[in-house]
Amino acid sequence: MSFAKIPKPDKLIAIRYEPPETSWMDTPTVFRPGTWSYSGAAKNLTALDMPNPRAWQPSDDDWKLPENWKEIILEGLRERLEKYRSFRLFMDICVRCGACADKCHFFIGSGDPKNMPVLRAELLRSVYRRYFTESGKRFGRLAGARDLTVDVLKEWFYYFYQCTECRRCSVFCPYGIDQAEITMMGRELLNLVGCNINWVIEPAANCFRTGNHLGIQPGGIKDMLEFIADDIEDRTGVRVEVPLNKKGADILFVAPSGDYFADPGTYTCMGYLMLFHEIGLNYTFSTYASEGGNFGLFTAHEMAKRLNAKIYAEAKRLGVKWILGGECGHMWRVLHQYMDTMNGPAAFLAEPVSPITGTRFENARSTKMVHIAEFSADLIRKGKLKLNPARNDALRVTFHDSCNPARAMGLFEEPRYIIRHACNHFYEMAEDTIREKTLCCGSGAGLGNDENMEMRMRGGMPRAMAVRQVKEKHGVNRLACICAIDRATLPPLMEYWVPGVTVSGVHELLANALVMTGEKDRMTDLRGQSLEGKTVDGTL
Ligand code: SF4
Ligand code: SF4
Repeated sequence: MSFAKIPKPDKLIAIRYEPPETSWMDTPTVFRPGTWSYSGAAKNLTALDMPNPRAWQPSDDDWKLPENWKEIILEGLRERLEKYRSFRLFMDICVRCGACADKCHFFIGSGDPKNMPVLRAELLRSVYRRYFTESGKRFGRLAGARDLTVDVLKEWFYYFYQCTECRRCSVFCPYGIDQAEITMMGRELLNLVGCNINWVIEPAANCFRTGNHLGIQPGGIKDMLEFIADDIEDRTGVRVEVPLNKKGADILFVAPSGDYFADPGTYTCMGYLMLFHEIGLNYTFSTYASEGGNFGLFTAHEMAKRLNAKIYAEAKRLGVKWILGGECGHMWRVLHQYMDTMNGPAAFLAEPVSPITGTRFENARSTKMVHIAEFSADLIRKGKLKLNPARNDALRVTFHDSCNPARAMGLFEEPRYIIRHACNHFYEMAEDTIREKTLCCGSGAGLGNDENMEMRMRGGMPRAMAVRQVKEKHGVNRLACICAIDRATLPPLMEYWVPGVTVSGVHELLANALVMTGEKDRMTDLRGQSLEGKTVDGTL
């Protein structure tokens, strides 16, 4: 299949915000190339025991739905209304105040009213009214209700896969209506009839088979981590250990697999390894719990639970005291908001205490899982790390709050604290684009694929404009973040909207500055670029 050509930035930014001539219920969904994601491949659905595996694409007229598809969806909707009180509430309480309308990056970047959170929710709410409320049953369209048809199902697919479940809109809703939860329900219902996207289902199937999204076998993980250790030795002269599946270690470390396998995540992984070596941490990686990310979250609650179970199971098998988690986004939404009740309780683990500083992480008393930014910020605060921030002087850094650690955890200060100690040049983006109001990368929740590139550039445009502002004002050339999806999706976004800005994890910056015992004279940063911002051979 060929990818649609993306318009140049000056064309893409000419966005029409006028509503269409027809009312929203009468405006058909058009699957325009570049704005949707390919269907889930049958082999991946089969691997996960999911219904209706078949060959189809969203642009086909015939979606090859099961004969009784409508009954399946309505029964699924009934079950979820009974099971999730929040969902029932969100179906009933919106007062159409419009406070959320212009807060979604996909609406800002596309001008399509169905990307307003209030209207995105209405796509599902209108069907709820028709079949589950008295007014909807009696008055139909007059009461904002409509029949469930194949066209409605296609509309759900298009717009629930144009929501990154980032939850920015919910920050502005006076009732706290969480569109991400509604999108998750919409996707769950679509999954019941086999309508899903491959960029979600393939990683989920891989994860089920091998423990990680990329489908890497244990030998591959070992090799990759050893390569990373070789690179560390090359840059620093220090050989670090790569403990794998070590029974009796104090701590199980779980990171997103993107950090082992793709730049610039691998530099973040170098940072983890260097830090743990320097403080002498008794920890282990696992080739079974080899992924913290969880694309089950973008599929269904039950799938998220199923894929996440390996983390506690492995902690138990290895006999560790507690779990440390790497720089990932949605992984932390699952771990912080669901894991305790979904897969726990984890009474077999101890309340996390840093073996280096003695700090008790009371916030992780229940999950037994600590975020690496909290762990490292504590090391700095207690004076356990020797840092030379001048090694990052070629970088003028800004920080992108990744949606999930920011809005699902409130993790705002720790990454900034690390950056401020590791770098001399740090600049914040505009206040209404950071912390809990952070703007999404536009490619999360499974939408970071190539065929959806135009929509990604549209959805990421507001974030990119905030970066452009600090680039123009302060000469910013590095965008730091604490999410593996961001590390994969922000580089093309920057290349498109703000060329000259590169992307990194926070632990890459920390490790650049980290003065290690027995290190050689550090001539380069972790990327092999000279500390003056040029490569050693002067070619860059
Ligand atoms: S993408 Fe984010 S802001 Fe937009 S509707 Fe979804 S959760 Fe809300
Ligand atoms: S802000 Fe909340 S109540 Fe207002 S329109 Fe949006 S979802 Fe409805």
